[in-house]
Amino acid sequence: MKNRIIAVTALSLTLGSLPQLAQAEASAIHDPYIEGFKAYAQEVKKVSDELYSAANAYATDVFKTERKAGHIGNPLPIPKAVKVTDGVYTVVGSMIWHTPANFGLNNNLSFIIFEDGVFVFNAGANTALAYSLHQQIKAITDKPVKWLAVENDQGHAYLGASYWVDVGVKNLYSSSLANDTFDSEFTEKKTEWSERVGKNITNDARNVSDKFTTFEGELTIDVGGGETVQLKDFGPGHTPASTSLYIPSRKVLMTGDLGFNERMPVFFKYTDSFAWADSYKAMLDFIPEDTLIVPGHGTPTDMATAKKQMYDYLVYLHNAVQKVVDEGGSVDDAIAIDQSMYKDRPVFEQAAKNNARHIYQEIMNGSF
Ligand SMILES: [Zn+2]
Repeated sequence: MKNRIIAVTALSLTLGSLPQLAQAEASAIHDPYIEGFKAYAQEVKKVSDELYSAANAYATDVFKTERKAGHIGNPLPIPKAVKVTDGVYTVVGSMIWHTPANFGLNNNLSFIIFEDGVFVFNAGANTALAYSLHQQIKAITDKPVKWLAVENDQGHAYLGASYWVDVGVKNLYSSSLANDTFDSEFTEKKTEWSERVGKNITNDARNVSDKFTTFEGELTIDVGGGETVQLKDFGPGHTPASTSLYIPSRKVLMTGDLGFNERMPVFFKYTDSFAWADSYKAMLDFIPEDTLIVPGHGTPTDMATAKKQMYDYLVYLHNAVQKVVDEGGSVDDAIAIDQSMYKDRPVFEQAAKNNARHIYQEIMNGSF
């Protein structure tokens, strides 16, 4: 604190009066560092107007610098991006829940280098993660990040988006349903991720849903060099709106949250597991058999493995629960279904029984 006061005092001698920090912007950021300067400015106002102006000007400077940088701090110690194929990379997130230890990096953050620039898939759960991913991109290529798309409305897909806006990314894409949901639930989502991952790290995330170009069904983006990126919603699944990203020229499909490899698929209250199986099937039918798969969760893999880990699991559990229902069994019988062949998958304990219960209720209620 001592250093900061010295800095402000020094400024007061040289800068005199400068434009004050715009109140609307200042109140919108909730940045403890800036708030500290504002409080200091109020204090010194009692002493001198000149000192007050200088303190405010300094806060404005810090604010502008922070905003331009998107994030100020050291890169987080996240895993190094894995090379999937030429120019295609993914940082494989933690296979468990979002916690302070994994900084909210529990999904995959991917990027593709094209002739005209870099396409990022998923914004990350906070600006620190987005910044850390950006440092990895910069270590591989000099090309600017030009495009960003998000897989769905979840915090780890979206909350870091304000970083990418601040560093000048103009082309942001989301399905309209995901964007509307994120927009209307922004405060709840930010609060939830703050509580689970950490307030400080989540604090400066802003709702930038108004900056997104939205689409329904599908959208093809020309990324230069004769290549395209196809964003496609194959239907509901883990979340009601789900965006997959397909690059025909690289034979790569990023499934978004339709695809879980290794990690157990997880059902939320809004998960339509039967639609999920249909959407997954539609996705597999859409792509050639030699396509490389980057799942939403887990390591990149081939199509046969991706199908086994996700689609085959859903079909197994659907059939097994249907059999319980047909035989007049209870929800406890559904929960008791043998899933031990999947027991080595991360979050098995948290997911398996809940998934069986969820499917039982879907069948009994005729809806999820
Ligand atoms: Zn997710």
